[in-house]
Amino acid sequence: MKADVVVIGAGVQGCAVAWRLARAGLDVMVLERAIPGAEASSAAGGILSPGVEALEPGPFYALGRASLARYPSFIAALERESGVAVGHRGGGTLEVAFDDDHARLLAGRASKIESAGLPVTVLDDAEVRRLEPGLSPEARGALWFEDEGSLDPRALGRALALAAGAAGATFIAGRVLGIRQAGGRAVGVDHERGPIDAGAVVLAAGAWSLQVAGHGLPANAVRPVRGQIAVVATTPPLLTRVIFSGHGYAVPRADGRILLGSTMEEVGFEKAVTAGGLRHVLEVGIDLAPAIARAPVVESWSNFRPASPDGEPILGPGAVPGLFYATGHTRNGILLCPITADAIAACVLGEPPPVELAPFSPLRFGAGGVQ
Ligand SMILES: Cc1cc2nc3c(=O)[nH]c(=O)nc-3n(C[C@H](O)[C@H](O)[C@H](O)COP(=O)(O)OP(=O)(O)OC[C@H]3O[C@@H](n4cnc5c(N)ncnc54)[C@H](O)[C@@H]3O)c2cc1C
Repeated sequence: MKADVVVIGAGVQGCAVAWRLARAGLDVMVLERAIPGAEASSAAGGILSPGVEALEPGPFYALGRASLARYPSFIAALERESGVAVGHRGGGTLEVAFDDDHARLLAGRASKIESAGLPVTVLDDAEVRRLEPGLSPEARGALWFEDEGSLDPRALGRALALAAGAAGATFIAGRVLGIRQAGGRAVGVDHERGPIDAGAVVLAAGAWSLQVAGHGLPANAVRPVRGQIAVVATTPPLLTRVIFSGHGYAVPRADGRILLGSTMEEVGFEKAVTAGGLRHVLEVGIDLAPAIARAPVVESWSNFRPASPDGEPILGPGAVPGLFYATGHTRNGILLCPITADAIAACVLGEPPPVELAPFSPLRFGAGGVQ
């Protein structure tokens, strides 16, 4: 088998990169050992929040903002080409303080964000409860990132796989064993069905990226960090926006379901929903909005974030010509999907990427690898 580009992994990163490259006219093969979108990508809360996740202005914050800015046109094209609605909700995200220390911390962050000319609104406790009447009376004010929001990651994954297919990408089932090199460059992969030749290889295998032989990354550049989520159903809908406390978050869907997340667990690839994990996320929810205590729990799951040592993605070329990385997205792979697609597609096409990729290069871990 032969293609212009092979993409290893059909999570949201692999599918989005494939969609972009297929639209650019390349012959793209997406290689997925399970079901497209079924791993971390469908387990996510779907929060789109550089303001809360990146904490302070800097390259990572800018990357998140660049991706958020792309989302409206990304979704419009995706929904048109796939026929799948991805459940985008605006209204902003709130980070709520429940004690004076957290309130002080948020005030400090707000002034740094404002000084950098980035949007944030500081709310007092009355204002935050006016926005979200279901919120606990213990709330001591909040930061409101008004242009942020959320979407349904399962729908996003489905839409991306369909759009990539409609644009001409071919999906091949089965496991990639390794990346093949000749003359010092990547020339394809060894797939369980046999070798596949390609002019470029994109590694988008999520938390499993280091299991692909010849990955070219330092040991520990990507590790699994388990996250558990519980879903409660509220009628009428109790909350309307994504709300973070210092301990977790609630992501309301339009139909009244609320996703409560999440744990950050270093347990290798042990995929389980545990009593302790459920207790943690349910407590987060009940502390945020006490009426959640009366809501039925309707679903729960766990999966593995592809975590990098600094929590930031690994993007672009590394030491091996022809091999490109779209991995290590840790907690923000849904947020960063549009910018990943555009940046990696540009690299493969030999065009300048839309953002400076040096801060996210695999080479940032240095010759000695990851400490
Ligand atoms: C509980 C939880 C909550 C989260 N919440 C959010 C959120 O609210 N907002 C946000 O932005 N991000 C969130 N994330 C993070 C986000 O889900 C991930 O960063 C993102 O999904 C990573 O996408 P991916 O395509 O790299 O990985 P995946 O979706 O895991 O895809 C990798 C794919 O590669 C395939 N694969 C692996 N090895 C091979 C191989 N050898 N051969 C062939 N195929 C292979 C796998 O089967 C898989 O389908 C959350 C994650 C979790 C777990």
